[in-house]
Amino acid sequence: MINKSTQVSIIGGGLAGTTLAWELHLKAIDFQIIDLNKPKTTLKAAGIFNPVVFKRLTKSYMIDECLPVAKEFYQKIEKITNEVFFFEKPLFKTINNIGGQNQWEAKIGDSNFADYLKPISSEKFENLKNYQAWGEVKQGGFVDTKTYLTASQIFFEKEGRFQQIEKLSNYLMDKDSWIVKNDGLEIKTQKIVFCEGAYATENPLWNFLPFRATKGETLTIKTEAQIPDAIFKKDFFLLPIGNKQYKVGATYQWDNLDWEPSDEGKLTLIEKLEEILNCPYQIIEHTAGIRPNTNDRKPFLGEHPINKQMFVFNGLGSKGVALVPYFAGKVCNQLLNNVEPNKEFSILRFLNNE
Ligand SMILES: Cc1cc2nc3c(=O)[nH]c(=O)nc-3n(C[C@H](O)[C@H](O)[C@H](O)COP(=O)(O)OP(=O)(O)OC[C@H]3O[C@@H](n4cnc5c(N)ncnc54)[C@H](O)[C@@H]3O)c2cc1C
Repeated sequence: MINKSTQVSIIGGGLAGTTLAWELHLKAIDFQIIDLNKPKTTLKAAGIFNPVVFKRLTKSYMIDECLPVAKEFYQKIEKITNEVFFFEKPLFKTINNIGGQNQWEAKIGDSNFADYLKPISSEKFENLKNYQAWGEVKQGGFVDTKTYLTASQIFFEKEGRFQQIEKLSNYLMDKDSWIVKNDGLEIKTQKIVFCEGAYATENPLWNFLPFRATKGETLTIKTEAQIPDAIFKKDFFLLPIGNKQYKVGATYQWDNLDWEPSDEGKLTLIEKLEEILNCPYQIIEHTAGIRPNTNDRKPFLGEHPINKQMFVFNGLGSKGVALVPYFAGKVCNQLLNNVEPNKEFSILRFLNNE
């Protein structure tokens, strides 16, 4: 029987739980991660960070605040774990018509976008189909989420801070502490933070929150052809991940939320890929995951309205990689200094209408 006592228990070892764990580690706070052995969306993600939303050519949610924190965070963890998983890359978006070109040019003149947009280019890229033009984004890139998560888990296992479980835990109140109980495991803890990703929709504690989970599928392809080392975007992405391999994605599906890759998803991705790629390739992997999207596209942070000292850190949606270090800092601030997160991303926004 493992019997532990700790300050904070983190439920879930995906992107949210792992990043919160690092924040606590860096502040020398005692914690345990308790992770159910189930598929993680983080391991299915492409991990792209892109400061721009192309639909209306706006900035990505809170990107001015989140991106500098994210860069510093991932680079710090690379040093601690001695792994490389943070990659900055040029990012090109297809521009198909004069309207798109005018819109891009207007934003180039807007000082708010000076850090994020480069002028339009009419470059022709080797082994890609020709488009009227390309808009280049600055400060894009990707986090290799598999390496980040695996290196972090190994680190926390060595520190005795990572518990893998096979079934759901029970949470019991004992005086002013919580006890997390599972087979062969009992952790007495002051605070619990639930970082369950899309699984939270099945947890009666948190399913009052307006999640809008979406299924997403990606392909990994391999090609011997030379393609420029950049991320290419249309209404999907082509991401170079090394060893002549590229990720292609992703689909968005709002129903039939299972973790199985589908034939339909594969066909859609092949169609999309062939709108941009102009060379032979082979498919080497096809995966699916469930994004913890939310109705208003903002994260869920805060304390449970009834079960005090239980907190949530969820709703990272489709842009978790860029958002998570900044918001993990906000979660820490509430856990350690009782600072209520801003109402914009606090779950208080669903609890009263003040
Ligand atoms: C196809 C696809 C592509 C994506 N591409 C990108 C991208 O390019 N850029 C980007 O930023 N984001 C992307 N995302 C989104 C990103 O994956 C998510 O924002 C992020 O991974 C969510 O992390 P999480 O920790 O909330 O959830 P998860 O990674 O799913 O982790 C949740 C963990 O909690 C555990 N758990 C759940 N319930 C319990 C419990 N009761 N007890 C113990 N453990 C529990 C689960 O087993 C799991 O390990 C993509 C997602 C998909 C599906």
